Amino acid sequence: TSFGFTTVGEGQKQALVDDVFHKVAERYDVMNDMMSGGLHRVWKDAMVSVLAPPKSSARGWRLLDVAGGTGDIATRVVRRSNDTAKAVVCDINGSMLSVGRDRAEKAGLSDLITFSQGNAEELPFPDRSFDAYTIAFGIRNVPNIPKALREARRILKRGGRFLCLEFSEVDVPVLDKIYDGFSFNAIPAMGKMVTGDGEPYRYLVESIRKFPSQERFAEMIREAGFERVTYRNYSGGIAALHSGWKL
Ligand code: SAM
Repeated sequence: TSFGFTTVGEGQKQALVDDVFHKVAERYDVMNDMMSGGLHRVWKDAMVSVLAPPKSSARGWRLLDVAGGTGDIATRVVRRSNDTAKAVVCDINGSMLSVGRDRAEKAGLSDLITFSQGNAEELPFPDRSFDAYTIAFGIRNVPNIPKALREARRILKRGGRFLCLEFSEVDVPVLDKIYDGFSFNAIPAMGKMVTGDGEPYRYLVESIRKFPSQERFAEMIREAGFERVTYRNYSGGIAALHSGWKL
């Protein structure tokens, strides 16, 4: 069985997503490593290299990391800036945020990274208040993606950068078949092993398959008003990084 969320409404979809991440919050980081074979670290590092945050705080550079969960992207960005940038992690899920808050505290980064509960579709921040917006493996969970993209543009300053890392469409023959087999069978099985329940992972795999192609998603970002929209594939398109600017 599956959640069959083709037939569920936006509110129900969000409720299913929230349930998944409440259940896995404590083991989220371990699961990420297991399921991606550590690749998510490589992709996240690549994303932060593309962002290239300034290495001095002269202008008080600020990042908003949406669906930021346990703070993986925010931590990398702040470290890359030589601990000068500030980051706000915004996530709808309190369990993920509290794991992140503990982690930031242990890393001595509480002054630079703050955690704020909020919905990507209605960000609790004023217009033009951030230099960059990142979202990693989060946007496919958001029920109304065009709305989230408009919110991203709203909170960015002029000249601000939008970056989105997400599972995407594999464009390498054979790899796509292997990947399908892996995701449909191995991922729910591993989920069951670690958390005792495979069902949330079936849902995650389905949400990856329903996410628009690289080209289509780039078009959606343009439709939200971003300019110079580009993307690059990682690992044959298993993941893709989309970039846009608020000019
Ligand atoms: N960015 C982190 C990373 O790359 O490790 C976490 C990604 S995790 C797969 C997806 C996150 O999206 C979860 O923490 C979940 O709570 C969050 N999320 C789901 N729907 C959301 C929404 N509408 N607004 C904000 N965050 C949301």
